[in-house]
Amino acid sequence: MDTALDRHEHGVTREADILIIGGGLSGAMLAAQLLRLPGRREVLIVEPRSELGRGEAYSAVELGHTLNGNAARMSVDPDNADDLTQWLTAFIEAGGWPESDQQQVPISELFPPRGMFGLYAQQRLAEARELGVQNGSTAEHVRGEAVDLRVVDDAVMLTLDDGQVLRGRFAVLATGMFPAARTPQTESSGLNAAALDPWDVAAMRRLDPQSTVLIIGSGLTMVDAVVSLEQAGHRGPIEVFSRHGLLPHVRRQPPAWVDFLAEDHSLRSPRQLMRALRQQCRQALAQGIDWQAPLDTVRAHIGRLWSQASDVQRRQFVRHVRPWWESHHHRSPPLSAELVARLHEEGRLRIRAASFNGLASSAEGTLAIHIRRRGEAGLTVVQGAALINSSGIEYDWRRVARPLPQQLLARGLIQPGPLALGIAACPDGAVLDAHGEPAERLFAMGPPLRGMWWESTAVTDVASQAKALAARLVELQTHHPD
Ligand SMILES: Cc1cc2nc3c(=O)[nH]c(=O)nc-3n(C[C@H](O)[C@H](O)[C@H](O)COP(=O)(O)OP(=O)(O)OC[C@H]3O[C@@H](n4cnc5c(N)ncnc54)[C@H](O)[C@@H]3O)c2cc1C
Repeated sequence: MDTALDRHEHGVTREADILIIGGGLSGAMLAAQLLRLPGRREVLIVEPRSELGRGEAYSAVELGHTLNGNAARMSVDPDNADDLTQWLTAFIEAGGWPESDQQQVPISELFPPRGMFGLYAQQRLAEARELGVQNGSTAEHVRGEAVDLRVVDDAVMLTLDDGQVLRGRFAVLATGMFPAARTPQTESSGLNAAALDPWDVAAMRRLDPQSTVLIIGSGLTMVDAVVSLEQAGHRGPIEVFSRHGLLPHVRRQPPAWVDFLAEDHSLRSPRQLMRALRQQCRQALAQGIDWQAPLDTVRAHIGRLWSQASDVQRRQFVRHVRPWWESHHHRSPPLSAELVARLHEEGRLRIRAASFNGLASSAEGTLAIHIRRRGEAGLTVVQGAALINSSGIEYDWRRVARPLPQQLLARGLIQPGPLALGIAACPDGAVLDAHGEPAERLFAMGPPLRGMWWESTAVTDVASQAKALAARLVELQTHHPD
């Protein structure tokens, strides 16, 4: 179709080379990488939030809501592991984080507040924008939610919630994680309306400080919720319910350990992996070395192991290893873990292996939930004054009640990823359509690729994917000019 006609017919309001859908850490870091590469390109980043680079994770405002890894582990520059430490050093010297003195550890070992990390990501994007200007490249924030996407001949048309239509040669889904609270299931159970936001300290200040708070889920969001409650002055009982009743371990700074998976490519099944890992952990402990040392070497290989595994093996991993992996691998920052441990010891925080089964009827001003204790058939009613849902993320896009995932599925432009975790894609990020064909113009990165790599969410995953995808898009742009 003639391009001018095509634009007119679709009511195109803006055009760009690359449309990035979602301006959290993934979208911002992809834009930064695109701006740094030679050549001229226009990038539009569609994001409803007022600021780029933050998403939910790095919009945090409380100093107690920190990264779960220290500065040495959280660089957004895959070529410079010290990038965050260097930024933080300058930031602290300029008086940006006076409280950091209290921790008395080297800067590389500090666990920065997530809001501060958001500032770091924004600054790196701003620097990339300045560099981009030299090539004539730009990256602009378009406020809004993308609600529909079509691929028309040689372009992608993106419709926003205010009716704007953006036309791009390529588009990238950097839509991050969808909270479990956004699913029709939790919507209909009434959970969303009843639950407090785990990070909303102001709302928690309105609670009676001695009241009982119920928390569903026992992962890192629960840890954040407990930090929020403490900050809000809550001093009453906290009842935590989760299927396995496991708390995240605390993150320590283990010494280096031999990369045993690099040396043994015969390990494929989850069972083999776990057997080898347990053996390595035993060896470490026998030498007086932290078990976290061997565990941390697995991280670099998990994507390869997951993508090589069969669906049966992946299911085994999810069923048998996942709870263990979540509590041992996704570890808690030390100060937050200390708080949780203290409240647990004092008997104020109790954790029970039980699943949430919906709201129960209760007297006005109170709240009651049905839980099913592990190993029991019947339901039990538990009362509290407030409820916090920290049960995590919805990775199955078929259950995400947002327009864009639903439209992409309805149009057959995407298909669910392995085990319905996120969406299916090629290793370079090109999404697979409903027939399994790789898209020429539609890509994805970060959490939507959970099913492809298992770990596709953390800062370092996002940073390395942003670099690789930017190089791929520039290659496509160069080889297929308009
Ligand atoms: C509370 C929390 C704490 C975390 N802490 C850590 C940590 O300490 N260390 C770590 O490594 N990782 C952490 N993570 C993981 C974290 O998700 C990643 O580090 C990172 O935020 C992923 O970035 P993202 O841009 O892919 O996703 P997100 O941050 O979720 O951003 C996605 C963005 O896309 C936008 N969006 C979605 N749909 C649309 C649409 N249709 N149109 C336009 N925009 C859209 C959203 O508004 C959002 O801003 C944390 C995550 C959370 C939620």
